[in-house]
Amino acid sequence: MVNIDVAVIGGGVTGLASALALARAGATVCVLEREPKTGRATSTHNSGVIHAGLYYPAGSLKAALCVDGRDRLYAFCATHRIPHARCGKLVVAGTADEIPALEALHRRAHQNGVTSVTMVDASFVKHKEPHVHAVSALWSPDTGIVEAEALVKTLEQLCRQADVAMVVGSPLIGADATADGLVLTTPHERFLASTVVNASGLYADANSALLGGQAFTIYPCRGEYAELAPSKRAMVNGLVYPLPHASGAGLGVHLAKTTWGTVTLGPTIRYQDDKDDYESGRIPLDDFVEPARHLLPWITLADLQPGGSGIRAKLHGPDTTFADFLVGRDTVNPRIIQASGIDSPGLTSCLAIGHRVASIWRE
Ligand SMILES: Cc1cc2nc3c(=O)[nH]c(=O)nc-3n(C[C@H](O)[C@H](O)[C@H](O)COP(=O)(O)OP(=O)(O)OC[C@H]3O[C@@H](n4cnc5c(N)ncnc54)[C@H](O)[C@@H]3O)c2cc1C
Repeated sequence: MVNIDVAVIGGGVTGLASALALARAGATVCVLEREPKTGRATSTHNSGVIHAGLYYPAGSLKAALCVDGRDRLYAFCATHRIPHARCGKLVVAGTADEIPALEALHRRAHQNGVTSVTMVDASFVKHKEPHVHAVSALWSPDTGIVEAEALVKTLEQLCRQADVAMVVGSPLIGADATADGLVLTTPHERFLASTVVNASGLYADANSALLGGQAFTIYPCRGEYAELAPSKRAMVNGLVYPLPHASGAGLGVHLAKTTWGTVTLGPTIRYQDDKDDYESGRIPLDDFVEPARHLLPWITLADLQPGGSGIRAKLHGPDTTFADFLVGRDTVNPRIIQASGIDSPGLTSCLAIGHRVASIWRE
């Protein structure tokens, strides 16, 4: 049996960033990842947007960790040459009656300390995005994009350089409490860990139960994408969002130009039972035309092609609109640090979450 200070369950961006921060804080660390490679779940099935922090309720962990994480991520990407761009984002009002909601979002952004966000007029939008329809917009210069796969790869390399043991293809399948820590079982090995970080995404609820931690439910919520046909990619330059759903259900189907030049349209929102099903019952391409026309009135079905999909690990079901990240010492078993319920803006926040996890471990 291997003795270790901290075992991190999950090799997505949350787990890898936590492992790196813990190792740099002096802990001996292993990452247990059930898949044969790290980052194969939600961490590489997303929009790749570095959020500025406009949307989240003031005082929430999402608001604080997004702003902190954004700054850390831009610096990290620059240092480690990860493809990224601080390209800015427009949140557009298509009609005058959407302007009050835009102004409310502007106020919220400022409450969250995102003071670079400004209200702009239709001519500003025309200059940035000549093919997008808007009567008014919010301009967020600190929003950007990152190549998520490269981020995962770099985090993993840095973990290895910091002597983190990367144990892939090794799902956590059992845990027993002893006086010295938790004995963790995978199909191949056993670890005695003084502390366990639960960063297991869609399976964080089941793994918390396995570890003897607090009870909560993760609700899988699929987001699907279409893409602009290659011939239309030049019609979009950056990030263009509609107003977020009034129901609070999400940020709305938006346009995102990736670091490799494709333009995605999405993601949609649909709760489902299965945590690993990315494909069955995909939304027909036709259904993307109407939300796309809200931003690009000229679009037709022929301009679209099918895109990817991802599954959000939400801490609330369809009847509620907001749940904060769960980052902190477990309320039942203090040997566990939860880094769970990390839906959007989790990619943006990962380095800030890792930093917080390491601080909790040191306390
Ligand atoms: C459609 C969509 C769009 C998004 N867009 C954005 C965006 O633009 N910007 C942004 O900031 N965020 C975005 N997000 C959110 C972001 O992708 C997530 O918050 C982030 O990837 C969560 O990372 P994670 O490491 O917590 O989870 P994951 O990447 O899911 O990692 C969890 C890991 O745990 C492993 N695991 C599970 N069970 C076990 C076990 N028993 N033993 C060992 N390992 C286990 C899994 O295999 C997985 O690798 C989006 C999410 C979705 C779904």
